[in-house]
Amino acid sequence: MLFDTHAHIDNEPLYSDLENLIPTFKKDGIDYIMLPAVEHESWPRVLSISKKYDMVYGALGIHPSDVAKTDIKVLDEIAHLLTDYPKIKAIGEIGLDYHWYDNKEQQQVWLRRQLEIAKQNDVPVIIHDRDAHADVKRLLDEVDSYKSGVVMHCYSGSVEMAEDYIQKGAYISLGGPVTFKNAKTPKEVAKIVPLDRILIETDSPYLAPHPFRGKTNSPSYVRLIAAEIASLKGLSLEELAFHTKENAKRIFKI
Ligand SMILES: [Zn+2]
Repeated sequence: MLFDTHAHIDNEPLYSDLENLIPTFKKDGIDYIMLPAVEHESWPRVLSISKKYDMVYGALGIHPSDVAKTDIKVLDEIAHLLTDYPKIKAIGEIGLDYHWYDNKEQQQVWLRRQLEIAKQNDVPVIIHDRDAHADVKRLLDEVDSYKSGVVMHCYSGSVEMAEDYIQKGAYISLGGPVTFKNAKTPKEVAKIVPLDRILIETDSPYLAPHPFRGKTNSPSYVRLIAAEIASLKGLSLEELAFHTKENAKRIFKI
């Protein structure tokens, strides 16, 4: 019944146990998982895992953490990989991270290039935005990424900015932080995002929701995120699960 739209199941400790974990995810009501790439070395894992497991779809891209050590020519591989691997449904995760990395201009060059590739191939982008709200928004506007689709992964901005993104056609994805007791803004955002624009994600193995905060995260815990958002919106878990799953299938064309 649930779609975890962001889980790095190719990272440890999940990856080496995936054979056993996939059936437990299914048993816990997880129907689909979106696996985004981070570094170029992860692309073969994303391709093989999404090919091997029915429930897993993938995204290819280079995360801002890795652009400094990667040759931008690798992006030329994406178009043919999208053709050869039909379960690759997005470009991600890509974006800007000014919290951990100060190569701002280089990150922007990479983000713009990857937004253009997504637009050319008519696939959505999965956006990582850490302390870079204004530049992320500007680049999405300049490339005009909304028609091919925008997912704001682990959205951490204000209510006003969420409203602006929603009005432009983006999807807002919420994760573990919405379950944290002192997370005032994510809870406010969860209340205002329309039911046809909200997505849920774990960001496994990172960012585990309450009461597993600080522990290894798992796609199975997306249920806790769904339950919190359902209660904030005054809906049943089933209703929230249904809409978030339909939204994810729509944006990723599944
Ligand atoms: Zn991620």
